[in-house]
Amino acid sequence: MKWSFRIARVAGIDIFVHATFFLLLAWFAWIYWNATGTLAGVLAGTAFILALFACVVLHELGHALTARRFGIATRRITLLPIGGVASLERMPREPRQEILVALAGPAVNIAIAGVLWVVLTVSGHGAALDDPAHVQGGFLAQLLVVNLFLAVFNLLPAFPMDGGRVLRAWLAMRMDYASATRSAASVGQGLALALGLLGLLYNPWLVFIAVFVWFGAAMEAEATTFHNTFGRLPARRAMLTEFHVLSPGQPLAAVVDQVLAGSQKEFPVLEGDRLVGVLTLNRLLAALRDAGPAAPVGEVMETRVPTAAPDEPLDRIMERLEECDCRLVAVLEGGRLAGIVNLDNITELVQIQRALAAGGRRAF
Ligand SMILES: [Zn+2]
Repeated sequence: MKWSFRIARVAGIDIFVHATFFLLLAWFAWIYWNATGTLAGVLAGTAFILALFACVVLHELGHALTARRFGIATRRITLLPIGGVASLERMPREPRQEILVALAGPAVNIAIAGVLWVVLTVSGHGAALDDPAHVQGGFLAQLLVVNLFLAVFNLLPAFPMDGGRVLRAWLAMRMDYASATRSAASVGQGLALALGLLGLLYNPWLVFIAVFVWFGAAMEAEATTFHNTFGRLPARRAMLTEFHVLSPGQPLAAVVDQVLAGSQKEFPVLEGDRLVGVLTLNRLLAALRDAGPAAPVGEVMETRVPTAAPDEPLDRIMERLEECDCRLVAVLEGGRLAGIVNLDNITELVQIQRALAAGGRRAF
């Protein structure tokens, strides 16, 4: 994810924080300033948000470390203003494992709340729990309540919440994975509608959450459909084989003619048979401005090009495109360029397969 900064590494997992998270901090500092009017109040408020997000990190670590027990690594944990995301390398497909991984997060929050409750009671501050909503009420009491809220909120049976995964896994014990995802997504969207209506009547925040849940459910359904139907197809099926190539010595002026004459936006650059780089339209425009039309392609091209084998599944190609934020993946066969895959190709393939399926014809 772009705009994220690494802040720590816990149990071998990098923890990133998204830039927008700082907006949330600023917003809360402002709320506390309005409520208390003192610097101490602002600091306390900011400390509270940081403590809250430490709990969110622990929640995500709950998912990550449980997944690790099933042999699934976690690439990173990212903190967003709306919560945390643990990017597992893959989702467990064994429903029982998916349930345990999903429940581990909320279980951490319940455990934290339990510990806080014990601390408050033993230290004689149990009364703070009677009025935790008060901004100047006990720091720990508020943290306890927020942890309970996190547990309950994440257990809502709707994607992208953990409860949605539990529901999907539970359904997957009774039907195939794709149908289970669709059903779970429908339940989630039904819940989103109900939340939205309640929100219109009582609390605008609920409307915001409802929109978030609605799109989360739709995205999960879409991603699973893609994975099940197209993600396993080999790269060669979506690969572009008719395209122009450039050589490193060509001047940019010659590329301009090719861009205007066709619709190609990325050009592989070959030296003999060997792939040495890629020139994208954006790069070309920047180079025309900075270096002028006489500059050779070889001096301005991107030299790092992700590659794939023709039989690699499209799932992996998509991952690679996202990871490097590239425009294309070069498909190499025996060291020679066999074709290129970009997002437009993949989209076309999906559209074609859907059209065939809608017409009752077998997708090929
Ligand atoms: Zn979670």
